[in-house]
Amino acid sequence: MFGRSHKKSDNSRYYEVLGVPKTASPDDLKKAYKKAAIKNHPDKGGDPEKFKELAHAYEVLSDPEKREIYDQYGEDALKEGMGAGGGMHDPFDIFSSFFGGSPFGGGGSSRGRRQRRGEDVVHPLKVSLEDLYKGTTKKLSLSRNVLCSKCNGKGSKSGASVKCSGCQGTGMKVTIRQLGPGMIQQMQHACNECKGTGETISDRDRCTQCKGEKVVQEKKVLEVHVEKGMQNGQKITFPGEADEAPDTVTGDIVFVLQQKDHPKFKRKGDDLFVEHSLLLTEALCGFQFILSHLDGRQLLIKSQPGEVVKPNSYKAINDEGMPMYGRPFMKGKLYIHFNVEFPDSLSLDQVEALQKILPPKPQSQLTDMEIDECEETTLHDVNMEEEMRRKAQHQEAYDDDDEDMLHGGAQRVQCAQQ
Ligand SMILES: [Zn+2]
Ligand SMILES: [Zn+2]
Repeated sequence: MFGRSHKKSDNSRYYEVLGVPKTASPDDLKKAYKKAAIKNHPDKGGDPEKFKELAHAYEVLSDPEKREIYDQYGEDALKEGMGAGGGMHDPFDIFSSFFGGSPFGGGGSSRGRRQRRGEDVVHPLKVSLEDLYKGTTKKLSLSRNVLCSKCNGKGSKSGASVKCSGCQGTGMKVTIRQLGPGMIQQMQHACNECKGTGETISDRDRCTQCKGEKVVQEKKVLEVHVEKGMQNGQKITFPGEADEAPDTVTGDIVFVLQQKDHPKFKRKGDDLFVEHSLLLTEALCGFQFILSHLDGRQLLIKSQPGEVVKPNSYKAINDEGMPMYGRPFMKGKLYIHFNVEFPDSLSLDQVEALQKILPPKPQSQLTDMEIDECEETTLHDVNMEEEMRRKAQHQEAYDDDDEDMLHGGAQRVQCAQQ
């Protein structure tokens, strides 16, 4: 008796919000929106939700393509195409596109944030440890977009731009495909006629300097001041030096310092570390050597008379580390890690001579008989790292055999009980 019921989609609410009939002309819509938006503007104490709703309704109905979708399929169809509310414009942007800013005069709107912010441009900047120790200035040549000076970023000689007819100035186009009964696919893409800008400039009116692009490339040399003691990863920012674009707050150029490895010095915070190898004789009898610092100064480093330096020990020199950022007269420590190179073997004469000088060996009272009762052993050289690696591999194989081991263990228990 009844046909299959179709869920009637709501396609009249937007008209009600704006208070216009479904037959309203674009002009009617404009007038209705303007009146209601001023009345409900949050800056004038209006309800933000209502204001948003008005902008949304107007955005849809003022776009012939969107209006068609809405009239035919309702609100949901639009939402599907937009992906969770995306693609809709900021209600304040829509509002200011009408009034070119605040209609209340005096630039008193507290909503400056609505101006689009251009992207920051981030460059890594490799610096040597010497650069960070002494401080330096690097000149970098970069090319960036700046607003065309001839047309002031308008793109046209007359300063006029015409709303793109392809997208009604929205910069976006929506295409609809009927996939099947009740199923439509909607795709939104940048308008090809205006490259998403929403406006077109006639060939005749096009600015000759920027060819209507509104921006031109400019080469600029930036002087980057790398200060003493700056750290790896520290940022140096040039505010508002990134690409310029019309109606956009220009982003920053940000340099991120990348400290290069140094062949001699390692840095940890404000401290420096160097490795130094001593011969056994130097470790026992004293040493002195020259260390060229990062600023080219020659440091004389020497032991105290009678001092013995043990292998793998550290000594430090105060105030010869890195300068501290912001307080360059303060410096960290310079640590020296000592390695001692022992001789591989000694001649019998050397052994005899050393025995006379060095502290005596522990008194060994082993009798021949005691020694006879012991088992003889042989010490051999090992590469400990390799030994450990081999043992780790063996352990893995052993772990894989866990089950077998358990069975084995269980059997043994049984045997023991019998
Ligand atoms: Zn367009
Ligand atoms: Zn121009």
